[in-house]
Amino acid sequence: MTEKNTATQTEHNAETVSNFIRQKIEADAAQHKYDRVGLPPIITRFPPEPNGYLHIGHAKSICINFGLAQTYGGRCNLRFDDTNPEKESTEYVDSIKSTVKWLGFDWTDATGEHLHYASDYFEQLYAFAEKLIEAGHAYIDSQDADTIRAQRGQLHEAGQNSPHRDRPTAESLDLFRRMKAGEFKEGEHVLRAKIDMASSFIAMRDPVIYRIRFVHHHRTGDAWCIYPLYDFTHCISDAIEQVTHSLCTLEFENNRPLYNWVLARLVEVGALAQPLPEQTEFARLNLTYAITSKRKLLQLVEENLVDGWDDPRMMTLVGIRRRGFTPESIRLFCERIGVSKADSWIDMSVLEQAVRDDLDEKAPRAVAVLKPLKLILDNYPVDHAEPCKAPVHPHHPEMGERHFELTRELWIDQDDFMAEPVKGFFRLFVGNKVRLRYGFVIECTGFDTDEHGNVTAVHANYFADSKSGTEGSNNYKVKGNIHWLSDVSAVPAEIRVYDRLFNDAHPDAGGKDFLQALNPDSKHITQGMVEQSIANVAAETHFQFERHGYFVTDKVDSKAGALVFNRIVGLKDTWQKR
Ligand code: ATP
Ligand code: MG
Repeated sequence: MTEKNTATQTEHNAETVSNFIRQKIEADAAQHKYDRVGLPPIITRFPPEPNGYLHIGHAKSICINFGLAQTYGGRCNLRFDDTNPEKESTEYVDSIKSTVKWLGFDWTDATGEHLHYASDYFEQLYAFAEKLIEAGHAYIDSQDADTIRAQRGQLHEAGQNSPHRDRPTAESLDLFRRMKAGEFKEGEHVLRAKIDMASSFIAMRDPVIYRIRFVHHHRTGDAWCIYPLYDFTHCISDAIEQVTHSLCTLEFENNRPLYNWVLARLVEVGALAQPLPEQTEFARLNLTYAITSKRKLLQLVEENLVDGWDDPRMMTLVGIRRRGFTPESIRLFCERIGVSKADSWIDMSVLEQAVRDDLDEKAPRAVAVLKPLKLILDNYPVDHAEPCKAPVHPHHPEMGERHFELTRELWIDQDDFMAEPVKGFFRLFVGNKVRLRYGFVIECTGFDTDEHGNVTAVHANYFADSKSGTEGSNNYKVKGNIHWLSDVSAVPAEIRVYDRLFNDAHPDAGGKDFLQALNPDSKHITQGMVEQSIANVAAETHFQFERHGYFVTDKVDSKAGALVFNRIVGLKDTWQKR
């Protein structure tokens, strides 16, 4: 399969439906708000904290930020928001970079590489903090964290001023410098913005903007023992990078006044210039039957409830990739769910349908028998090998044909035979006729069992004049049409049939214990067979196995000679009926 996973392809996929973010960008353009010499009309950024693997929710943010930049001829920066050194690492940085690229986006364009780290701004952030202190907009508080929290008050009740709120500027400046110099212990002092302890926005009640932390940072090492907090860092990083539209999820709505306050004060003191970036919030993605909290994903990994971060059942993007979802299908999914201002749940079936719709068009077809059962055609010549053929893709003759041979002994799927057929079963049972796809019509004559009564082989006779594509085939009307492999040429393969990881649509809603909702049947491994034409296929190659669904060769474990396939999804949604 050819991978057309480039930015041009993405442009084609980019959402074209209008939404409130696009309307804002267009209104800003009409007012020439961001007409700046030498800069693109819009600059967005995707700002992950490198403290875990990206999940499907992040894909929404990536598609929005990079997608809008492409649509409006702008650029999107990748910025690591790395101000919490305890939890961050380069392992996560590397994984995030490769995942963004895999999704088809790039932070490098004709004007250079737009890869940034908030930690690159530590000097500048520190200088800006000093300017705020000098202008009387920030002070050192020497109370402990619990006291500061208690004084912040409740939603409908004003907070209390700290006794250090009116500390002289020179004293705050001196303490701040000594904090930086490492003279104090963690928690002894913090730097707070001086805003309004009675604000209806709790975030505006003199938020802490710097704290002492004696921890090693994955990029700056031990150079710093004070670290800036998110609300101070994020808006300034946006401004330094000349971001125009700072897009984030709704939980930051109450932080927007603080975002604007910090930037406005820095303009007043001459540290920053207009036009400033503006924050716009959109609804986060909530996906049914999935968990998207990094903390809970970590719990699944640490308690060995899944096989690592890239377990194909995990809604991490490394897991989704290993499962076999294509980048195009993820972008299609993000396009379909759109951008809204109201929180909602997206059904897992929307994601699954996106990969079906993507792969239906481009995945080559092949035959796989997941649970092999021997079928013997008793009236078939012993050494005969009847050549048969099938299209690689039913709608794309240009993709060519597959050739295989029908022999006396074959493999069929156990599910296609029933010793005691239930009502409505049209496939193999004694006395019934079915067509072997691309081959002959056969009639089942009997079956063998072992001492436990398990069926070990099925017997049938074939009709020599019934071959598909010949005139005689029209004389046979059968309801069942089953796939098969010749036992002479079938290639063994491990087949991992995955299903949703949770049985409950909202596994962690309302404080529920999501571990109780784990689907015990989410992984079945079988030793199956596939057709010879795909014996040497590379890892990460996608197929539709006829009648079974979409599969991919496992990225990690599949090798020529030892094939491993993952089931991505079945051909149809079977969950709605459960
Ligand atoms: P978690 O809550 O799982 O730790 P996070 O939001 O803290 O995730 P970040 O690395 O800070 O993770 O997120 C980077 C960007 O991705 C942010 O702009 C954030 O708003 C966005 N994002 C995170 N989760 C979602 C989601 N479920 N839907 C849409 N955007 C999301
Ligand atoms: Mg975060």
